[in-house]
Amino acid sequence: MYLQGVGPKRAELLKKELNIDTIGDLLYLFPYKYVDRSKFYRIEDIVNDLPYIQIVGQIVRFQEIGVGRKKRLTAIFSDGTGTIELVWFKGVKWVAKSLKPSVNYLVFGKATLFNGRYNIAHPEVEEYNPNQQNLDAPLQATYSTTEKLKSSYISSRTILKLQQSIYELIPSIVSETLPFYLTDRVKLISLVEALKNIHFPTSTTMLKKARARLKFDELFFLQLNLLYQKNSRYQKVKGHIFPVVGDIFNHFYHKNLPFSLTNAQKRVIKEIRRDMGSGKQMNRLLQGDVGSGKTLVALMSMLIAIDNDYQACIMAPTEVLANQHYETITTLLKGMDIEVGLLTGSIKQSDRTGIHSSLLNGKLSILIGTHALIEDIVQFKNLGLVVIDEQQRFGVAQRAKLWDKNPSAPPHILVMTATPIPRTLAMTVYGDLEISVIDELPPGRKPIKTIHYFDSKRNLVFGLMREQIKQGRQIYVVYPLIKESEKMDYKDLNDGYDSIARAFPPPQYVTVVVHGQMKAQEKDESMQLFAKGQAHIMVATTVIEVGVNVPNATVMVVESAERFGLSQLHQLRGRVGRGADESYCVLMSGFKLSNESKKRLQTMVSTNDGFEIAEVDMQIRGPGDIEGTQQSGLPFNFKIANLSQDGQILQFSRHIATEVIEEDGMLQLQKNRLLKQQIEQMALERTSFGQIS
Ligand code: ADP
Ligand code: MG
Repeated sequence: MYLQGVGPKRAELLKKELNIDTIGDLLYLFPYKYVDRSKFYRIEDIVNDLPYIQIVGQIVRFQEIGVGRKKRLTAIFSDGTGTIELVWFKGVKWVAKSLKPSVNYLVFGKATLFNGRYNIAHPEVEEYNPNQQNLDAPLQATYSTTEKLKSSYISSRTILKLQQSIYELIPSIVSETLPFYLTDRVKLISLVEALKNIHFPTSTTMLKKARARLKFDELFFLQLNLLYQKNSRYQKVKGHIFPVVGDIFNHFYHKNLPFSLTNAQKRVIKEIRRDMGSGKQMNRLLQGDVGSGKTLVALMSMLIAIDNDYQACIMAPTEVLANQHYETITTLLKGMDIEVGLLTGSIKQSDRTGIHSSLLNGKLSILIGTHALIEDIVQFKNLGLVVIDEQQRFGVAQRAKLWDKNPSAPPHILVMTATPIPRTLAMTVYGDLEISVIDELPPGRKPIKTIHYFDSKRNLVFGLMREQIKQGRQIYVVYPLIKESEKMDYKDLNDGYDSIARAFPPPQYVTVVVHGQMKAQEKDESMQLFAKGQAHIMVATTVIEVGVNVPNATVMVVESAERFGLSQLHQLRGRVGRGADESYCVLMSGFKLSNESKKRLQTMVSTNDGFEIAEVDMQIRGPGDIEGTQQSGLPFNFKIANLSQDGQILQFSRHIATEVIEEDGMLQLQKNRLLKQQIEQMALERTSFGQIS
């Protein structure tokens, strides 16, 4: 407010619109681009598609065109090599009064071609004085503003002027955040130099260095904080120690396992075993593409817990999925003396009571269920391992409840996801977890063929479906479900079902339906029919998106595919290609597609690699919208770093942060004093990340 050119009214606006409250905030409002103001254009040299340009010349004459709200003012502007039109739609009176013919002006703006002639709408105009070395450093910063600010005459240029007024203060108000041994080692310029140059670059080289320093700061402190928190958690929280891999695990491995583990599964089980034997409390994220065999890894980890006289549980986001895990796991454990329980919303009260008591007396070793598991009444004798499947579907609070299910110390936690998260994002969002990746599919899988058809080609698709059914295969047809308009989606689904029933009439063909508005029991019946191979076609909404496993299904038809996000499409595709047969994913869409939809469908057609898809997804949507982070949003806002572009800086800063923490876990060394201060400051400013990511 006390800064020259601000005052109470503008101060309030800046606070409201840009969250600028202090001089420090202003300093950390970074330009989003720079324009080269060392260059002057000659009007005759103007061509289409130039960026912002500046020209020097005089106004030849004004002309007012139109009436009322359509009124606009134009000025013919000449520099001796040609003329161009300057146009104003707003502030017409003021412009006409303050600009005079026959004065040399510097005009700055974007030239566009209109009716065969170039014009600049709402240019910046100021008197030209060739001797004046004004704001215009060769690279001039441009700041984003808002409509509200603009209408109160706070433009990018106003902000630049404010920046200039605090420029001289920078050395006295900014204190260095990195110790010299680090800036020296990493070859970074000082924070003071960086902040000066980000607003008033003295050269492109200095601008680059300034950006590098500020990006490094953001990413480095985020990583340092995560690693520091992780380290202090290890100091504070002791983990249950599972020293043995015993009879149960070994019996299963040698007698029950129906196939050999993939190398990736072996490696990940080793990583988990090492964690659980270490005395640290495990917090591990298991990433593996759909169909990579995460369930087996979960089961074998649970067997290690049981070998050590602990109980284990697995929580799934939907009943369908919990039921399926129950089936799979009881089948795999056949002949072994291990009690497995299922707890979901539709389990009868009388059965629940039994489960509750055998959990408490320790008879029940493995509990499988939905979020019914986290209810307070569910208590274990000695819970040692919690597996959370498709973890992005649960909120932090829900997960945290499981953490409290063993009063003596929190259980080990394994969260699994089939939504591949780009490495850079995983490092920031899940940076305090250990990460395991299954990067290999079980042998014998053929890559899924993905095809995009417009709705008009439906007959081709029906043809493919018939042919596959003839070969004994099964088919999913999926309709989008968007919460806001469940009624409409339901109608889509029903219409779809009708047209399928016409093309595939009973009794020759059996079609079942699954959608969110059905009762759990009905849903389950349909699922069972399909899983047992008694139905040819399943028409469904996205309830089948996660985890469902029917290896005989070979075709996934996604209706209105343009309405799905990339990770969802990839999940859906993962429902097929689970057996040895050639599988297909057919993406149906309308003819009119946005560029983004086009890009999504093209990506699906061109690759099966979940991580590649995740990268594209992040490029399209930006890191804040990636599934897995949506619920909470990113826990921070970057001012200058960009996860989809600054992967290298991120990796590098992670590397440096790891070195620092490895040497000085609690940041107690004198040389790390600044770092410690910074971390403590962050703890004050941010709400806690919680103990479970
Ligand atoms: P996801 O990782 O998507 O949860 P699942 O655990 O459902 O995958 O496994 C997909 C399918 O692959 C299941 O039918 C499972 O039995 C099978 N499978 C898992 N591991 C192997 C393996 N090592 N060899 C062969 N098939 C496997
Ligand atoms: Mg799964």
